[in-house]
Formats: sequence, C-alpha cells, structure tokens
Amino acid sequence: MEKSIIPRLEVKSLTKVYDNTKVVDDISFSVLPGQITCLLGPSGCGKSTTLRMIAGVETQSSGEVWVDGQLICGSGFSQPPEERYIGLIFQDFALFPHLTVWQNVGFGISKNNEGIKEKAYELLSKVGLSTKSDNYPHELSGGEQQRVALIRALAPKPRIMLMDEPFSGLDKRLRDDIRDETLDILKLEETAVLLVTHEPEEAMKMADEIALMRNGEIVQKGAPYNLYNAPVDREAVAFFSDANIIKSKVSGSLADSPFGQFFAPGLDEGTHVEIVIRPQHVRIDFDREGRGPLPTVSMGIPVRGCVERARFLGNESLVEFKMDFDNSIFRVTVPSVFLPKTGQPLWLTIPRDRCFVFPT
Ligand code: ADP
Repeated sequence: MEKSIIPRLEVKSLTKVYDNTKVVDDISFSVLPGQITCLLGPSGCGKSTTLRMIAGVETQSSGEVWVDGQLICGSGFSQPPEERYIGLIFQDFALFPHLTVWQNVGFGISKNNEGIKEKAYELLSKVGLSTKSDNYPHELSGGEQQRVALIRALAPKPRIMLMDEPFSGLDKRLRDDIRDETLDILKLEETAVLLVTHEPEEAMKMADEIALMRNGEIVQKGAPYNLYNAPVDREAVAFFSDANIIKSKVSGSLADSPFGQFFAPGLDEGTHVEIVIRPQHVRIDFDREGRGPLPTVSMGIPVRGCVERARFLGNESLVEFKMDFDNSIFRVTVPSVFLPKTGQPLWLTIPRDRCFVFPT
C-alpha cells in the first residue's frame, strides 16, 4: 500500500475577523514538501492576512495551522513565530546595509553554528554569488540583492517558505530568471512554498496548485491547467483573461444565442445564464472572403461583426468587433499580425467545447 504523505503545511478552517468583518473566511488547504501553492486573488481578498496568521505574526480568530503533522496554532494555543520553522520573503526584501553579503546570510544561521562564514559561502555559491560575499548590499544589483535575501531566508533551513509578492519589484526579464532559480532551490530543499500574488500569470508560471481567493474565501483550488480550463464561475474566467459574455436563458438543457445553441447541463428550465468565451477561442472566418462560412455542428452559426479596432500586441493581435446582433463589443485574439481596417465586416464562430455556461 502506498504510504500517505503528511502535508508539510496544513491549514484548517482558518478565519480572521476585523471589526465584525470576516477578511479570511474558513479557508483550508495543504501544501506537500517541495510543492508550490499560490494564493491568488485581487487586492484585499485576504491573502496576506492568511500568510501572516501562518507565520504567527497575526493571531487567527479561529482555525488551526499544522506543520508536518504537528499543531502550531489552534484554539488557545500558538507557537511563537521563531519556533515555527517558517521562512518569509516579502517584496520589500530589506538587507542590513551595514553588514556584508555573507554577514547578511549568516544572520539567518544559528549563532552557535560554527563556520558560519563557510556555510554562508556555500549557500551563496548556489546562486552564483560566492565572489560577492565580502561586498555590501549597495554594491549589488537589485537582482543580486534579491538572491541574497532568498539565501538568507533559506539559511535556517525552513520547512515552509511564505512569499508575499516576492518578485513584483523586479523588472520582467530579471524576474523570470530569479523566479526559476528560486523555485529550483526551494524544490531541491523540499521546502513547501506558499506564495501570494495578485497576478494570474505569475501564479500559472510558478504554482503546482492555485487557490483562487475572493472576499476572504477560496472559491476554487487546483492545478493551473484545471483552473484555466474548468473555471467555477464567470469571475474565475475573467480573472485569468478577458471574457466575452452573451446573456441567455436555458431551454431544454440548451442556451440559445446568435452563435447557435450551447449545452447548459444540470441547469433548470428558464435559468438565466451567461455564455462566457475567451478572446482566443473565437474563430474568424478568413476563407470565404467575407461571405461567411456555412454553419457546422461543432462551430455553430457564423455571426457578423464589424471591426472597431485592431492592435498588434507582440505575439498576437487583438481585434475588437461591434456585433450586428446587439452592437456589443466582442474581443478576439489572433496569432501573429492581423490588422483589418476599421469597419471591415467579418464572420465569427465559437467552438462549442471552448466556452462556459454559468447561471447568473
Ligand atoms: P490582500 O493580501 O489579499 O491584498 P489583506 O489580507 O492584506 O489582502 O487584507 C484583507 C482585508 O483585511 C482588507 O480589506 C484589509 O483592509 C483588511 N485588513 C488587513 N489588515 C487589517 C487590520 N490590521 N485591521 C483591519 N483590517 C485589516
């Protein structure tokens, strides 16, 4: 029989009330050793408060936190932050300016530990900074300082690393490099990582699992692929990308629209619904020179719209159409360069398997 793995971090029904408002509302999740979980959600949804309760710098109103199968805080019990084996990295990764690089790293290693300098040197060489060990922070670039901060946080060998928007202060290219490097090290050390971010792209790139938060609650949890392809509601779609919306009503398990009928399984007759389509899933008919394609079962009915605006975005083009049927704007992305003139009529279709139908 396969041995079950004890989660490195387990959060059970964690709740925080400020001024009679639940800012974190009964959330539960676990993170395995070497796993990266992202708390993703808009600003103010309770991500940092959750992180602070796990770190022990904020007291929960109710709920429990377990580390490697041991309770570290629960009703009437709270281990102090320094005894929790939890590392923290924040966006504001202040290094001590009066200490050298190795002394900064050494700060995280126990005072009784012999050979602190050698240990710091060894850790720094993991991120290619051993030659800078005698430099001061102001002599390093932003990216190098971030690496030192990471190594300092890893020095005490935390079992869990909590990261609050750790890369948002870095420019994009540096961010990609440092992010990959950081994750490689954390995985190697089997550290469980809980990362907070409001950027879906960041979460998709980093996470093994994403917990999507809204108003203090986790609304959906799963692998990035599942969140993107099987979102729970319209807001979950819209959090990851633009979304085109068509309003409709269920009739005989189908929702009717100008693009044809969409399956609405499990929804009662007469339920008001929204058909939600991502811009990259709308197809433009290029083949029939504007005469419009013939309808097919999988693609539904072609619908005419006129180009309002077209912009080239680098990897793709974004074309906005004003639809004939209700004058609404439909956004469509097309790979590479496609910049039709304003006013040009084109026919759009929507593949059945690429859209979502949600009750309103
Ligand atoms: P996020 O990290 O998702 O941006 P936060 O956890 O920082 O969100 O905040 C969640 C909610 O809790 C916000 O509405 C915020 O104003 C409120 N909040 C956070 N800290 C306190 C506090 N110390 N006192 C009162 N309200 C707070």
